[in-house]
Amino acid sequence: MRIDRKRLERSMDDLGRIGETPRGGLTRLALTDDDRRGRDWMVAHMREAGLRVTVDQMGNIFGERAGAEALPPVLMGSHVDSVPTGGKYDGQLGVLCGLETIRALNDHRIRTRRPVTLVIFTNEEGARFQPAMIASGVMAGKIALEDAYNTRDADGIRLADELERIGYLGSEPCVARPFRAYLELHIEQGPILEEEGLSVGVVEGIVAISWSRLTIHGVQDHAGPTPMRIRHDALVAAAQVVTGVRRIAHEIGGDLVTTVGRLTVSPNIVNAIPGKVALSIDMRDPKNETLDRALPLVDRVVRDACEREGVRYELEHYWRVPFTPFAPDVVGAVERAAKAGGVRYRRILSGAGHDAQYMAAIGPAGMIFVPSRGGRSHCEEEFTPMDDIENGANTLFLVALELAEQA
Ligand SMILES: [Zn+2]
Repeated sequence: MRIDRKRLERSMDDLGRIGETPRGGLTRLALTDDDRRGRDWMVAHMREAGLRVTVDQMGNIFGERAGAEALPPVLMGSHVDSVPTGGKYDGQLGVLCGLETIRALNDHRIRTRRPVTLVIFTNEEGARFQPAMIASGVMAGKIALEDAYNTRDADGIRLADELERIGYLGSEPCVARPFRAYLELHIEQGPILEEEGLSVGVVEGIVAISWSRLTIHGVQDHAGPTPMRIRHDALVAAAQVVTGVRRIAHEIGGDLVTTVGRLTVSPNIVNAIPGKVALSIDMRDPKNETLDRALPLVDRVVRDACEREGVRYELEHYWRVPFTPFAPDVVGAVERAAKAGGVRYRRILSGAGHDAQYMAAIGPAGMIFVPSRGGRSHCEEEFTPMDDIENGANTLFLVALELAEQA
């Protein structure tokens, strides 16, 4: 039994046209008109496939295919929002492979024991409303519904108002509900599967993440009359932090990755010595202990850099998520499905956060990765070969079927 590759490809083309960029990428920010059109497209096709569609208070869309028994369902899902000038694979591929799984169950006239339910999560990317994965976070009880509703985008528009405007402020409570498994197919967003010539990654968990924010206070002054010997340049100290943070990854080695991704310079003009710099530090590793070792090194790098330049600073390690392991029985089932489908696969970890992370807090979860060309994502060049997509979708179909037949 297999999924229908041609039909899946057609769906990818159709949904991919909503919010398509001139260069073949995708801009479909959460709760915009394009997001609404993408959702409407999905809902129409979910209904056509016979699913009972409901929407919860966070705009998460559920499409249930009834089972023979009233047992907790097998959930499959991902998101349809994208980052600005992103790609057509991140998120969208997961929901379309879920839809294809439902359609394949219909083709083969399979009545599963458990219901099989497709889920589309609101605002996974966090590109428009922060934090990312806000809707699965509310479902998992990690984010209060009121806080999520009051989150505003860069123009000051409230999330709840946008949900209502696009017609997706549902009435179902957004709370944890029992499920047999949550399955998410997603692009790898890294180079490993492509480098090793594999179609599928059986994801064992999501790496531990730590976020810090640093504000450096130098002395703003004129770039001309101020001699070098009396300067206290916040950006010069920040530059040393940027290279120092990278050095930590080399010193500790292994799988640790460290990034300064955001830098705000004030006043950010040509002829003034920067008086203030704010920057972010993101560190990730499969092992919580590695981050425990890395954080004091960040403290030292910042202290030394700021001492050398004679500037004040505030450093705050404000967000930390431990390693999220996926449920061993779900991971095992994904692996069996890959094997049964004759797919070349390996076990792998996710370096990026996904809705599956929050779902793992309230039930058994697992993920299926497919390769990203050049390891690239969140860009218009995002691409996964159709052969690998077919293998991934088939793995999802087989694992959903196995778990939905379990008592
Ligand atoms: Zn995604």
